[in-house]
Amino acid sequence: MDRVAIITGAARGIGAATALMAASRGYAVCVNYLRSEAAARGVVEKIQAGGGKAIAVAADVAKEADVVRLFETVDWELGTVTALVNNAGILERQMRVEAMDAGRIRRVLDTNVVGSFLCAREAVRRMSVNRGGKGGSIVNVSSGAARLGSPDEYIDYAASKGAVDSMTVGLSKEVAAEGIRVNAVRPGLVITDIHASGGEPGRVERMKGSVPLGRGGMPEEVAHAILWLLSDEASFVTGAFIDVSGGR
Ligand code: NAD
Repeated sequence: MDRVAIITGAARGIGAATALMAASRGYAVCVNYLRSEAAARGVVEKIQAGGGKAIAVAADVAKEADVVRLFETVDWELGTVTALVNNAGILERQMRVEAMDAGRIRRVLDTNVVGSFLCAREAVRRMSVNRGGKGGSIVNVSSGAARLGSPDEYIDYAASKGAVDSMTVGLSKEVAAEGIRVNAVRPGLVITDIHASGGEPGRVERMKGSVPLGRGGMPEEVAHAILWLLSDEASFVTGAFIDVSGGR
């Protein structure tokens, strides 16, 4: 079976590392991006330079019509999706709950939760053997925040990842008999640009003392866990979580 992967939010960070690693393992890769067209094209060019197959597709995962178009584009250009990585995610400026307004909370939930649901829906519609599909694998990129709660920083973000965890458990059971595995990784402090969105680019450096392994993680270290969960090596693994967090 030709392997086709859609990685959301793959222009940089964990998503870009996952896209590059997936291509090196033989997947045709859709590099989804929100606005960073040049960066997404850069990832595609790197994949193509290594002999792989990839396309870049702009889509806001929080918008239903965009998600539908994203999956249709992949149908036409790469073939039926066999692997989905729900990686796109946002957080906003660090603040206590008492300072948050509804707009901010909705933006975080829209991308992290609604976006993951919509992409999972489109993937299941194509992968389910009950619908004529050939099965597949979904990996949700949650966060250690789902366990830790992120007090004084972004409890809205932590709660959105808690919802992603519940979706992982429920969906894994719902589609297990249809040839689809659903798992999640929970990264800890990983060195990417996401921390700047919270207003603290140096957050990993400040907090690394709280990590038993004594450092922040690299995006590739998360990508390794994602690629394993996607692979046939994880054929008996569903509804599972891998904490890629240095022990934190
Ligand atoms: P990042 O900010 O570098 O990457 C996130 C990507 O998602 C960006 O390219 C962004 O443009 C894209 N994106 C945001 N909203 C989108 C939307 N609506 N539609 C499509 N794309 C969208 O950060 P990252 O650290 O690589 O984060 C990747 C995932 O890992 C996120 O889900 C994040 O919550 C999770 N995570 C990161 C860390 C960490 O320490 N870096 C820890 C735990 C979990």
